[in-house]
Amino acid sequence: MVEKVVQNLIGEEGVAVAQAALDSLKEHSITPSPENYAVWLAFHTATPEDLKAELDMMIAAKRVIDDLACDQLYTKYFEDIGIGSRMMKAGGKIAAEMEDVRRGLLKAGVKTKAYGEQLEIAKQELAKTDSPLITKNLVDTLVGATTEMATQSKDLETKLAESSIEIEALRVQLERVRQEAATDSLTGLANRKEFDSRLIEMCAAADRGDGPMCVIMADIDHFKRINDTFGHQTGDQVIRFVATVMDRAKPKGGIVARLGGEEFAMITPATDRKAAIAIAEKIRLAVESKRLVRRASNEDLGKITVSLGVAQRRTSEKPTDAVERADAALYQSKRGGRNRVSQEELLKSKAA
Ligand code: GH3
Ligand code: MG
Ligand code: MG
Repeated sequence: MVEKVVQNLIGEEGVAVAQAALDSLKEHSITPSPENYAVWLAFHTATPEDLKAELDMMIAAKRVIDDLACDQLYTKYFEDIGIGSRMMKAGGKIAAEMEDVRRGLLKAGVKTKAYGEQLEIAKQELAKTDSPLITKNLVDTLVGATTEMATQSKDLETKLAESSIEIEALRVQLERVRQEAATDSLTGLANRKEFDSRLIEMCAAADRGDGPMCVIMADIDHFKRINDTFGHQTGDQVIRFVATVMDRAKPKGGIVARLGGEEFAMITPATDRKAAIAIAEKIRLAVESKRLVRRASNEDLGKITVSLGVAQRRTSEKPTDAVERADAALYQSKRGGRNRVSQEELLKSKAA
C-alpha cells in the first residue's frame, strides 16, 4: 500500500500531486505534519480509494476537515506504523531517482556524441580516398542517425533536468513546512511541540544506552519589569538574546526550545549532571555579563539575569519526570534569590 502511494509520486504527475497535497493542507488550515500530508497525498492519488471517497463525502457535506478529522482518517487508513515519515521521505526518494535517470542519460549522451565524432572522422578519411560511393552514403546515413539520437537524448535530458529541479524545489518546500511547524517564530528555537517529541526520542535513546541525559530549564528574572520599563518590543529583544546564548551553549545533538513567554528548556544528550550544571552556569554567566542596549533609544537595559534548574534523567522514568525535577530546581533558584543554577540533588527528595 505505501509503496503504491509512493510509486504514484514518481514523475511529473507526482510533482503535481505532491503540490496539490500541500495546497489542500493550506486550504483547510491543517497542521502540515507528515501524517496529515500522507492523508492528503492519499486523497490526491486516490490510494486507497476508500479514503478519497470518505474525504469527498466530507467535502460535499461541507463538514469541517481539521487536524482531528485528519488524525482519525490517518488512524483508520494507515495503521501501518511509520507511514507518515516514509511519505515525507518520498520527496527525497523521487529527487534521488530522477538524479539517477539524469546521470544515466548524460552518460549515454556522451557515448553517442563520441560515436558521432568517430564516424565523422571516418567519413572525412573516406572522402580523401577513392572509396566506393556506396560506403560514403552508408556512413552519411549513420552519422545522421547518430546525430538525431544525440539530439533526442539531449531533449530528454533537458526535460528530465527540469523536472528534477521541480522535484528538488518541492522537497525543499516540504522540509520548510516541516521546519516551520516545529519552530518558535520569535526566536527560531524549537517550539514546545517539537520539544515534547524530541524529549521522547532522546529519552528512548538514553535508555538504549546512549549515555546520561539532562534537562536544563531556564527563566528570565523579573522579566515583567523589563517589559513594563522598556516595552514589549524590547522584552522580545531580551528573549531573543537569551535564546541565542542558550543555543550557543547547547552540546552536540542537544536541543533548545522556547516553551513559552520567557521560559526555555534544553535537553543535553550524553551529558551527566555535573557537565549539565557547567553548561547552565555558562549560560547564567553569559547572560549576566552582557550589557544590552535598547535599540530604539540606546538606553542601557541594566543587568539581565536568568535562573536555571538542572535534572538528570533516571532510567525508564517518564520523559516528563526529569523536566518536572528541573523545573522544581529552577524554582529553587528563584526562591534562593535568582541569577543562579540549582540542581535536583539539592532538593529534599520525597523519600528522605
Ligand atoms: P520571575 O523572576 O519570578 O520569573 O519574574 P517574571 O517577572 O519574569 O515573572 P513572570 O513569569 O510572571 O513574567 C513573565 C512575563 O512575560 C509576563 C508576560 O507579560 C511576559 N511575556 C510572555 N510572553 C512574552 C513575549 O512573547 N514577549 C514579551 N515581551 N513578553 C512576554
Ligand atoms: Mg521570569
Ligand atoms: Mg516565567
